Amino acid sequence: MSEVLIVGGGFAGVWSAAAAARVRGDSDLRITLVAPNEDMVLRPRLHKLDPEWSRVALKRVLEPIGVTHLRAEVTGIDVAGSTVTAGDRSIGYDRLVLAAGSRLVRATLPGAEHLFDIDTADGVARLNAHLGNRVGFTAVVIGSGFTGLEIATELAARGRVILLERADVVAPELGPGPRPVITAALAELGVEVRLEASAASVTGRGVVLTDGSEVQADAVIWTAGMRAHPMTEQIPAERDRLGRLEVDRHLRVAGDVFAAGDVAAALVDADHHGVQSCQFATPMGKVAGHNAAADLLGLPLVEFAPDPYVTCLDLGAAGAVFTTGWDRAVALTGQQAKELKGTILEVIHPPLDDADEILAQAGRQSNEVAG
Ligand SMILES: Cc1cc2nc3c(=O)[nH]c(=O)nc-3n(C[C@H](O)[C@H](O)[C@H](O)COP(=O)(O)OP(=O)(O)OC[C@H]3O[C@@H](n4cnc5c(N)ncnc54)[C@H](O)[C@@H]3O)c2cc1C
Repeated sequence: MSEVLIVGGGFAGVWSAAAAARVRGDSDLRITLVAPNEDMVLRPRLHKLDPEWSRVALKRVLEPIGVTHLRAEVTGIDVAGSTVTAGDRSIGYDRLVLAAGSRLVRATLPGAEHLFDIDTADGVARLNAHLGNRVGFTAVVIGSGFTGLEIATELAARGRVILLERADVVAPELGPGPRPVITAALAELGVEVRLEASAASVTGRGVVLTDGSEVQADAVIWTAGMRAHPMTEQIPAERDRLGRLEVDRHLRVAGDVFAAGDVAAALVDADHHGVQSCQFATPMGKVAGHNAAADLLGLPLVEFAPDPYVTCLDLGAAGAVFTTGWDRAVALTGQQAKELKGTILEVIHPPLDDADEILAQAGRQSNEVAG
């Protein structure tokens, strides 16, 4: 009996499992997904600060399609021996799909233990426990990237929000296209933006900036930077500046190892690699899972061919902004973009309990949201 082993139970891992199950047919291929958590976490929902709404019970997706979920944390990968280590267990594989996702780059500031984050459902639960049902608090958000903007604009409905950005423009990585819409939304919501401002240390009372000034706050939320899971370093292959493994058009790293989602750097056109997002992690998972199983069964492999790149940034009560293309040209703003964001947050939820629907969706690479 052959074994496809998938490490990770997020968008990429779950859809890898479903795509492999779709290819398996009547063969005796065994598919196992290893992840420590009972739930898949829909991280794009986390800025809404409702951890339960962000969780999906893995068993309701995996059990109907005959995929075994092994609840364990993988600690080592031995590519030469075709095994992974999870605690004191050694698990063999015939094809491996690495889908262990990404993590927020932790701050190394003095007092970093006082920081909050919304990177995980546990992080959100900790922030919620701290803020309770309070309104009128002061929150400092560090970083004005995608996550920083979404949590800053969300919290603005409940309190005073100060957004710190070390660059001289807001949203430096989103480029000039959506910036006027973002700046207007922050002004409309009363979010105080401090540019060229870096945190030097954090205390239980707020944050001290590198210019020596202190900003008092009830909560300081760190959002700066995401990096591929460090497990990628155990695979002898090229990695990019985000720690992602270079993969070919079939999402193969080398030999028996495939990678998908935030751990993989895949070309999506001649000039661009995909970005760490569920928009790419979902179709990557489907392609990697399909190919891992097809490779074992002697069936044709498929190429990664995702939908064109788009972004949809939630701006709280000020709506949202939807952009298309790598220059992020603004296509929708305000309530129209907000409605699209709502649709995206719904459709990222996988079907539950229904094998036919799960397997049918696993066969479609397109996210079918913004088309
Ligand atoms: C706050 C926030 C908002 C976001 N908003 C958007 C958005 O609006 N649009 C968008 O497209 N993207 C968004 N993203 C990014 C998106 O969530 C990620 O790109 C996506 O989750 C990547 O999917 P993945 O399956 O690769 O990894 P993850 O979703 O990170 O899943 C990784 C899985 O691997 C498991 N795992 C980790 N370590 C191990 C181990 N050692 N052994 C076994 N399993 C392990 C984890 O438990 C988890 O199940 C957002 C992310 C955050 C944090």
